[in-house]
Amino acid sequence: MAAWRFIDPHVHCRDWREAYKATIREVVELARSQGVVAILDMPNTEPPITSLELAERRAETARSEGVDSGYYLYAAATPDEARLEEALEAVKRLRQVVGLKLYTAPMRGLEARDLESQRLVYRRLSELGYRGVLAVHCEKTSLFREELWDPSRPWTWNLCRPPEAEVESVRDQISLAVETGFSGTLYIVHISNPASIRYVKQAREQGLRVVCGVTPHHLMLSSEDMAKPGGVALKVNPPLRERRLAEGLLECVKAGDVDFLETDHAPHASWEKYGPPYLSGIRSLENYLRCLRWLAENSVPDKILRDMTYNNSKRVFPMIEE
Ligand SMILES: [Zn+2]
Repeated sequence: MAAWRFIDPHVHCRDWREAYKATIREVVELARSQGVVAILDMPNTEPPITSLELAERRAETARSEGVDSGYYLYAAATPDEARLEEALEAVKRLRQVVGLKLYTAPMRGLEARDLESQRLVYRRLSELGYRGVLAVHCEKTSLFREELWDPSRPWTWNLCRPPEAEVESVRDQISLAVETGFSGTLYIVHISNPASIRYVKQAREQGLRVVCGVTPHHLMLSSEDMAKPGGVALKVNPPLRERRLAEGLLECVKAGDVDFLETDHAPHASWEKYGPPYLSGIRSLENYLRCLRWLAENSVPDKILRDMTYNNSKRVFPMIEE
């Protein structure tokens, strides 16, 4: 494992107006310290990546910080036809843009919350013949129970945004992809519930091009850990689940049903985590190698680890060079 190189298809590099949280260079250096040679940055930056011009500006920022390899990004797929086409231009014309990212839960106004606006994205991409990757954050907002969130009892985040909200959204995305004849690759990111993986597997068996990933924190931690001192810092989207669901995820990994180990590395300043607004996000890249060792100790074969940390990314994102 020591000589292995890894690709992380889901990180948040911040920078720009959020450089106080992290810069692209800092995240790239942290990644390299873990053996991760390529990272794929998500587009919910400030400002977000919604066009070729913004994607170029992002790539230029990376270069200006001395990052000349291993940095890639997504453009945001928003439920606005003109903006969606601009995002698509970024994918078509800039080599570093690996695909589109769609948010179904609130995210700085980028999201497509209801089924109708999600349908618009799938329909338009299908009409335009998009064959690239559409990464989707799946949480069905109509199933959220905001009133249950209590920061003094941090595990309530798992009640506020329950496991079913993810599963139902995964089902929605699969139905929309089938209904609209979507011909790209659907990538369900950071799955927290084994039931979601079962739907992915079923859809794959029925011929849909769909892949999925899990994070180190959803595997190694659980909502029970949020009852410990400092547990509020483990607030993340989707939330950490009960231990039995985390164990279920490990079984899915062992069965070879998970395509990627993705960190969803999401740095914040500590005051934003430990006090209002109690932002969601964990610095999971720090635990990449620890997670790999943990998976190996839990009898995940090397072949599966190799596929999840490198081979599948090379297959799904053929533009990646390191
Ligand atoms: Zn993320």
